[in-house]
This record gives sequence, C-alpha cells and structure tokens, in this order.
Amino acid sequence: MNTGKVTLVGAGPGDPELLTLKALKAIQAATVLLVDDLVNPEIVAFAPPHARIVRVGKRGGCHSTPQAFIEKLMVMAAREGENVVRLKGGDPFIFGRGGEEAEHLRAAGIAVEVVNGITAGLAAVTSLGVPLTHREHAQGVVFLTGHARSGACPPEWQGLAAAAREAHLTLVIYMGMSGAAHIQQQLLAGLPAHTPAAIVQRASLPDQRHAVTTLGELAATIAREGLASPAVIVVGDVIRGVALAAEAVTAARAA
Ligand code: SAH
Repeated sequence: MNTGKVTLVGAGPGDPELLTLKALKAIQAATVLLVDDLVNPEIVAFAPPHARIVRVGKRGGCHSTPQAFIEKLMVMAAREGENVVRLKGGDPFIFGRGGEEAEHLRAAGIAVEVVNGITAGLAAVTSLGVPLTHREHAQGVVFLTGHARSGACPPEWQGLAAAAREAHLTLVIYMGMSGAAHIQQQLLAGLPAHTPAAIVQRASLPDQRHAVTTLGELAATIAREGLASPAVIVVGDVIRGVALAAEAVTAARAA
C-alpha cells in the first residue's frame, strides 16, 4: 500500500514573506491541506490548484472542528497515500497542539515531518524594533500560554514573576487577552508595576496594531485601545527599547 505522510508546517505569524523556503516547498507539494484559521489565505494560495483544502479552524474557543476529527482526517488521508500538509500558525510546536498531533500520527504509524515557522511572539517583538533578549535587559525568554487546558494547572504566575525579576527574563504570553486582568494582578505579586509591557495584535500583518504600556496599566490599556486576540502580551525590560527605536526612526526620517 502506498502510505502517504503528514508534514506539520509552520505558516509563521501572517506575512507570507516570513515563510521558510522549506514550508513553501511543502505547501507546493501537498495534495491535501488542513488549515488553521489563523493562517493567512495568501499562504494557502501557494497550494497547487488540484490540492484539497480543508479549513479546520476553531476560533476563540468555539470548537468548530474537534481536535480528534482533525487527527482522524490526517490519518485517513495519509493512509490513502496523500501528501498531507497540516498548516498551523506560527511554529507548529509552540502551543497550538502540534505536539499532540505528531504523537497521534506516530502512534498510528504515519510518517511525520515538522517544518518550523516563525512564532508569533518572536515576530511581534521584532516588529517593534527590539529583541526578546538583550544583554543589558534580559538573559532569557519564557513563552507562556495564558489559557491552560481545562483541568490542567494554570501557569504559576506569581512564581514566574519572581523568576522573571531575579533572572531578568522576558515573558511572552500567548492566548492571554481574555485573562489579561488576572495575569496582570498575579504578575504584580513579583514584578513592579512600572515593568514595561507591550501588546501586539496581528503581528506582521498589514493591520497590525500595538500598544506600549506598563504591567500596572496592562488591562486598562487593552480596554482603552480596544486590542483583541490574536495578540501577544510581552512583559519585561526589553520593551523599554521600543520608545528609543521609534525615536531613532523619527530622527532618521527628519534628517
Ligand atoms: N503556534 C502559534 C501559536 C498558536 S496559539 C505560534 O507559534 O505563533 C494562538 C495564539 O498565538 C493567539 O492567541 C495569539 O496569542 C498568538 N498569535 C498567533 N498569531 C498572532 C499574530 N499574528 N500576532 C499576535 N499574536 C498571534
């Protein structure tokens, strides 16, 4: 039997030019594509015209396509000999259940390949002109989910805040918008209210929006600016550089 395979492909944060060449080649060779709803349609358009495209979005907690069904679909298509590409936003192995999907496929005896993508948190901070780590401000970075699986323990925010302060870590919070007030309150137990913070919505896309604020003003800023998911929240001293980067751009333009 001619068994196909599944490639979990990172579609990056949105901008098609941030796709890797390997991702582009995988999409162009696909016979079946299963596409998450955060994936830019311009990226899906790289698929060959004869490829079958299945949208399997589950926006904002509304589970339009149950995970078990997506996994079943991939196994069935691969067993039929299809070259399946599972297109996921950002990097397939940063949140978004890529790990679970790979495990399920391997358990079913299906060959799985994974192609990295640029994760949203990385693109978000770079778009503001600052790095996630900077020798003078941060010695590491933590990617966190603000939305734990039901039944799972939520992140231990207070301990994280203390570690971030002591070890100079940048916190990058995915899926944190609806819980921002709670996250803010918990982080304030270990980090000062004046700790710089940023919210970046739809990073790398033409309608990207962002706000720079402090941890103490995080939830108020989100409400005032009307910022919403998909967005990442970034907390840490590296965000201090955003104002300097913006000033440098203004000065260069004026010169
Ligand atoms: N695998 C993805 C993350 C999936 S979880 C990655 O590596 O980027 C979904 C969360 O990612 C969203 O709730 C949001 O926090 C973040 N996200 C995805 N795309 C984004 C974008 N273009 N801008 C800002 N945040 C984004």
